[in-house]
Amino acid sequence: MAAVDVRTGRELPEAVRDFIAGAGVLVIDGEERPRSSDGGVFTTVDPATEEVLAEIPQATAEDVAEAIAAAKAAHDDGRWRLLDPGKRASALLKVSDALKRASKDLAWIDTLDHGKSLRLSTGELIAASNTFRYFAGVVDKPSGVVIPSREGRFIYTDREPVGVCAQIIPWNFPLLMAAWKLAPALAFGNTAVLKPAEQTPLSALWLVRILRDAGVPDGVVNLVQGVGEVTGQAMITHPDVDKIAFTGSTEIGRHIARAAADNLTKVTLELGGKSPNIVFDDVDLDRVARRAAFACFYNAGEVCTAGTRLLVNANVHDELVSKVTAAAESTKVLPGWFEDAGMGPLVSDEQLQRVSGYVDIAKDEGAELITGGGRPDGLDAGYFFEPTIFDGVSPGMRIAQEEVFGPVLAVQTFEDEDEAVALANDVSYGLAAGVWTSDHGRAHRVASKLQAGTVWVNTWGELDEVASFGGFKDSGIGRELGPHAVEAYTQPKTVRMAT
Ligand code: NAP
Ligand code: MG
Repeated sequence: MAAVDVRTGRELPEAVRDFIAGAGVLVIDGEERPRSSDGGVFTTVDPATEEVLAEIPQATAEDVAEAIAAAKAAHDDGRWRLLDPGKRASALLKVSDALKRASKDLAWIDTLDHGKSLRLSTGELIAASNTFRYFAGVVDKPSGVVIPSREGRFIYTDREPVGVCAQIIPWNFPLLMAAWKLAPALAFGNTAVLKPAEQTPLSALWLVRILRDAGVPDGVVNLVQGVGEVTGQAMITHPDVDKIAFTGSTEIGRHIARAAADNLTKVTLELGGKSPNIVFDDVDLDRVARRAAFACFYNAGEVCTAGTRLLVNANVHDELVSKVTAAAESTKVLPGWFEDAGMGPLVSDEQLQRVSGYVDIAKDEGAELITGGGRPDGLDAGYFFEPTIFDGVSPGMRIAQEEVFGPVLAVQTFEDEDEAVALANDVSYGLAAGVWTSDHGRAHRVASKLQAGTVWVNTWGELDEVASFGGFKDSGIGRELGPHAVEAYTQPKTVRMAT
């Protein structure tokens, strides 16, 4: 049954209301704890209405230590890693199915907690489900090699789980980030302590319950909640953590790398970006304009791979910019439960201030505001912001160099291929890049010169579990997903036998 909220007009499924009412728990060694060791709490807010959704216990260093101890005990006694691989694969397949079955209700959780539209939340859920399906498929596949050697010797390698993984995720894709972290960690036999971002703590609990119901033993996945400086800090400094997997800002990434150095903890870092989207003059500008708008405004621009720099061939600049502007202006900014919501609110007031601050900086630096730049009319509550475009951006401007993490596009112009590549690479980040051209030779030439972990040619934004993902330069260390996930979540062992 759905109850209609008279103020917002939204119809919230009963299962969602019940879930949120009981979402204030930590999960340690299979036990759902409604209270942290010191009774501290924080709140999570619906960014479309600014209403408090739930009060969540904030895990202290003591709670974190208990969660890590549970994960270590589960690793040491092998209750998961030594389970029949077929059984582990089947548990992960059950998770994949359960996510799909829950999709109508579960999609609401991130729409309320993060602000994204139900359409985006549902897409993310399907992607999370696919991630568990893909990683179920690697569990029972061979993982080592036999190495030819001299007579009387037998040498082989195996890949073992790394151990206890501290997994810290951001708020922009709450459920999908949890899936991208947990599915490979579990597939390769690790145990985990997961911390969602304090802005979006809810959907991870739903996933953790699904994992439990699918037969993942207690203690294998533990959920802690709380702010980074307290809960996250306790995770990254704990000596029993074998690996830290972090997705978030470059600033916190550096901090984590320093903490990891002290204990020589293994680390993968998926960090920020300032990704260039290069458009040559030999393309269908209508199609490219739609994708360029999507590249920057999808998920309200809160995407690490957002195409936030549009690099355009000077001779098609005016036409392309006017088409992208039309696409931006036709995007409906609305709460995520409206069917025609093209863009929801930003995640928090802090994020709204950050994005507005960058708009002021860009204006001060002399960039030309083409559209947007403020709150849309007619929405008096919520952290909404218009799709925004700046033209005339030069490489030295902060709007060309720094990650805004909101719906703000910076347009730069180039005369030829060499200048396009030079502009594209002229930032400290290297997460993603795009190139649009009908000249295949040029597509290959440019793709090979772009300093980016993912390059899209004549498309933008496709990311999924089948391909490796990570950053060049300040965008990170290591790769996750796809064929490289095995390196992130296992360590090789060589065995040399005298025979
Ligand atoms: P953030 O501030 O770096 O936070 C990310 C996570 O780290 C949150 O869970 C945060 O907790 C936690 N954290 C903060 N301080 C910590 C500390 N001292 N020790 C341990 N953990 C700590 O980033 P955000 O603002 O949430 O997310 C936006 C950023 O993430 C952007 O820069 C974006 O580019 C990046 N991002 C990258 C990718 C990628 O795959 N490369 C994907 C998504 C986002 P609290 O928030 O609860 O304090
Ligand atoms: Mg929230």
